Amino acid sequence: TPDKRAQMQALAPRGEPDKLTPQERAGNFREIYLPFNEEQAQREASRCLKCGEHSICEWTCPLHNHIPQWVERVKAGDIEGAVALSHQTNCLPEITGRVCPQDRLCEGACTVRDTSGSVTIGNIERYISDQALAKGWRPDLSGVTPVDKKIAIIGAGPAGLACADVLVRHGVSVTVYDRHPEIGGLLTFGIPAFKLDKSLLARRREIFTAMGIRFELNCEIGRDIPLKTLLDDYDAVFIGVGTYRSMKAGIPHENAPGVYDALPFLVANTRQLMGLEATEDEPYVNTAGMNVVVLGGGDTAMDCVRTALRHGAAKVTCAYRRDEANMPGSKKEVKNAKEEGAQFEFNVQPVELTLDEAGRVNGIRLLRTRLGEADAQGRRRPVPVEGSEFVMPADAVIMAFGFNPHAMPWLQAQGVEVDEWGRILANVESRYRYQTSNPKIFAGGDAVRGADLVVTAMAEGRHAAEGMLAWLQVKRPEIH
Ligand code: FAD
Ligand code: SF4
Repeated sequence: TPDKRAQMQALAPRGEPDKLTPQERAGNFREIYLPFNEEQAQREASRCLKCGEHSICEWTCPLHNHIPQWVERVKAGDIEGAVALSHQTNCLPEITGRVCPQDRLCEGACTVRDTSGSVTIGNIERYISDQALAKGWRPDLSGVTPVDKKIAIIGAGPAGLACADVLVRHGVSVTVYDRHPEIGGLLTFGIPAFKLDKSLLARRREIFTAMGIRFELNCEIGRDIPLKTLLDDYDAVFIGVGTYRSMKAGIPHENAPGVYDALPFLVANTRQLMGLEATEDEPYVNTAGMNVVVLGGGDTAMDCVRTALRHGAAKVTCAYRRDEANMPGSKKEVKNAKEEGAQFEFNVQPVELTLDEAGRVNGIRLLRTRLGEADAQGRRRPVPVEGSEFVMPADAVIMAFGFNPHAMPWLQAQGVEVDEWGRILANVESRYRYQTSNPKIFAGGDAVRGADLVVTAMAEGRHAAEGMLAWLQVKRPEIH
């Protein structure tokens, strides 16, 4: 309407959160974005037009967060009301506020995006939960009546935690098993601390524990406890085990000393920061003083680049096979990496790793590419340019090509089917949503959809909880 258009044109421009300067970020793993203060939160909240009962931002969010409704409460200074509302759909809003790619989801769809710039939804979400949790607000489960059902959850990542949250709110007794010593899955051990402070998950563990969720950490199902035991002891089991097989480049010498997979590199770095010992599979690698090349162009690649820069690497180069505009990760993270000193080599493809006399990597042979026809997803394919090979010197090469599901024979032994890529087959459409081919086992998150996002894993964990409640005839679940 003309009124709405006038309102949009009168809005102040979008306000970004403040961040540490590159100098302040150097050599440490502190979160780089500073929280909104009250004035910033009010300013941004006042830019929201409250587009309707179910606005476009809410629909674009995989969790269907009640965004305009909690923004309204911020405007009214009602942080308690806002945080209670945000917990109706999301059990980790302080996390999603920090790590969601909002530019591709809620903020990307915001009505005022093209006029004054989308409302800074993620930062308001973070503001609400940081403020409320610091003041001692906690979810209130005093009205929940226990039901005589118990469910085991394998994996304390976002999928498992979101599933546990819905179940415990319906009175089910829930135990979450994880092989790691802390909850969070990739939130704790994958995403670096400069994007997500690790104390947040420790606080959440206390909150979930107070809500009645039991955690059995340092416990790997299939090794320490057979899945069959859980199937005997519980009414149902949810599998949220993620995807942990690093994709390979398939080039000569990729297993040579000095070549590392992205995830073990990041996990070991976080364990070191948390004061935990390194493991045999994930040895700590300090790249201080080294010439580091990171292969890949997604968010994981950028996390590796920025981790090596914080170690004090002499030079860190990200080598990617397409151009900057076609990088798959967040533009914001590329910008942050550049500010911190990252170099980029675009339109190159790895051919082989070169080795010194001792057999250790000393460089990478690359071939230049140009962008050809678009593929099925509409992204232009890189085409090698003949005769363009060159060697880029490197003391360490980190491979960040993404992840595939890992093999889980213990799961298949219990009749759970997987697809050709190893993803668990779960029935998304049925009444018992996310039920697998073993009716007592449900699954969700990366293990079902392939490596994706925190917010999609959480949405699947919630839907699976809904499916389990229906299957166990607990009661009609309230999914908001
Ligand atoms: P996970 O988070 O992988 O959790 C699975 C859990 O299961 C783990 O804790 C694991 O220890 C446990 N487990 C596995 N097998 C067993 C077993 N047999 N017994 C017991 N426990 C087991 N997404 C975003 O939205 N924003 C980002 O900024 C972002 N950055 C990322 C950075 C990196 C480096 C990586 C690798 C991923 C990133 N992602 C990001 C993706 C996101 O982290 C994942 O999509 C999400 O964590 C998947 O959740 P999940 O619960 O399915 O699995
Ligand atoms: Fe507010 Fe943007 Fe959502 Fe509209 S789309 S309700 S302006 S945040």
